[in-house]
Amino acid sequence: METNVYKPYFNIIALMIFTSLALAFTVDVRNSDEAGVKTVLPAQVDDWTGSDMRFCLNDQCQREFVASQLQNLDVCPVCGGVLGSLSLQEKQILPSDTVVVKKRYVNPAGKTIFVSIVLSGVERSSIHRPEGCVQGQGRTIVKTHTIKVPLLNRAPLDIKLLELVREYTSANSGKVDVPQYYAYWFVGKDRETPDNLARMFWMAYDRIFRNVAHRWAYISLAGTRDLDSLEHEKEIRAFIRELYPEISLENRS
Ligand SMILES: [Zn+2]
Repeated sequence: METNVYKPYFNIIALMIFTSLALAFTVDVRNSDEAGVKTVLPAQVDDWTGSDMRFCLNDQCQREFVASQLQNLDVCPVCGGVLGSLSLQEKQILPSDTVVVKKRYVNPAGKTIFVSIVLSGVERSSIHRPEGCVQGQGRTIVKTHTIKVPLLNRAPLDIKLLELVREYTSANSGKVDVPQYYAYWFVGKDRETPDNLARMFWMAYDRIFRNVAHRWAYISLAGTRDLDSLEHEKEIRAFIRELYPEISLENRS
């Protein structure tokens, strides 16, 4: 169908118009503190047990620790550097009023999922396309796709799934490639999307038609994946199905 050829352009033009209008109306836009998601991660998600993380801010060290294994939450046991709840890189990139909550979840089989919620501050600039941050540090994105997570009493949630390979160098075995995944979606007040362009559209739309700039959040999961099975997708779906009602503001039960 010939009309489909122009479809991407319509989207871009529509976005440009909305963005221009948004800029024109910026003066009158009211910043809202309202978030679309809770900023507390549960201690337990199904049979996954969560722990807080601490990060060494010494750029020569930058080790990560599970908080419960530390005697002093503020001092790195390896280098003596300062520990924080964000990694050095995040601390350098994110505006200081960004809210970040993170937990490491481990299940009885010993599998690990890292979960974070990043809620933008007043500047609304804390959130950008996660692909930019995920690449680098030895990580390469090999595939990107959207998967559906079935949820109770509502339509499935679309999430973006990045399949990564991370290269590690170890003293014993040299270079090792570890297959990993990074899954995410964005949440604004009454809005959800796995797509950053759509998020930018809704931000512009809300500025114009609701006269408000809400705080967007993004929720991410990171873990390892099998190269020859879709087991990690099953794991992600099962995990989010349990996590979602815990962090959703719509949950009034
Ligand atoms: Zn350290």
